[in-house]
Amino acid sequence: MFAATVLTLFPAMFPGPLGQSLAGEALTRRRWSLEARDIRDHGLGRHRAVDDTPAGGGPGMVMRADVLAASLDAVALPGDSRPRLIMSPRGAPFTQGRAREWAAGPGLVILCPRFEGVDERLIEARSLTEVSIGDYVLSGGEIAALAILDVCVRLIPGVMGKEASGAEESFENDLLEYPHFTRPREWEGRAIPEVLLSGDHAKIAEWRRREAERLTRQRRPDLGRVPPPD
Ligand code: SAH
Repeated sequence: MFAATVLTLFPAMFPGPLGQSLAGEALTRRRWSLEARDIRDHGLGRHRAVDDTPAGGGPGMVMRADVLAASLDAVALPGDSRPRLIMSPRGAPFTQGRAREWAAGPGLVILCPRFEGVDERLIEARSLTEVSIGDYVLSGGEIAALAILDVCVRLIPGVMGKEASGAEESFENDLLEYPHFTRPREWEGRAIPEVLLSGDHAKIAEWRRREAERLTRQRRPDLGRVPPPD
């Protein structure tokens, strides 16, 4: 079973949205598990301090390596081979491919920093993988962890039904998905493309492939090898 452990100063943020809908149902059915641990349990002194001022000066606070290491070491089960991630805008960009890899594995340990970030020595000493969910700055790692877990959980066999395993979703084959339509057949003077009502499956597949290629070329030429229009 895919086992997620999240280390955070705000354990009440979990499962949050992952307790609803498909991820939530899968959690209830024990297709995956989620445990949120409070970093402050390992805080120092009467105030359970987890952070301190930055060496060299500057604004903000930095999370202490000793506190975070104690928190990480307390979750490592014997033989625990789960990847250990730390949320960071400096990290490797999170992708659908990464999610597929992780969803097929034993689960994830995710460290969610706050403040300016963590003491750099921790990352090396505990071999953490820095992961970013995009080129913007969140106020903490929790929303990034929720996003990563959401993407992974829907890829666990039996969680989503066949849709998510299908090869046609956005980012599979380096393509964006084709457009969708449903009833009514005409709405505000706009018709559903004729080919989709034709019942000709080969033609429909061909139309969808071309639309996916057209959208990818137009919006995300960086995604990969999209053939030129023919
Ligand atoms: N001073 C840092 C930003 C700190 S934001 C910098 O300039 O890089 C506080 C925390 O939010 C980060 O430590 C990280 O855990 C999380 N975070 C912010 N943006 C993120 C992103 N795009 N992806 C993943 N985690 C992010």
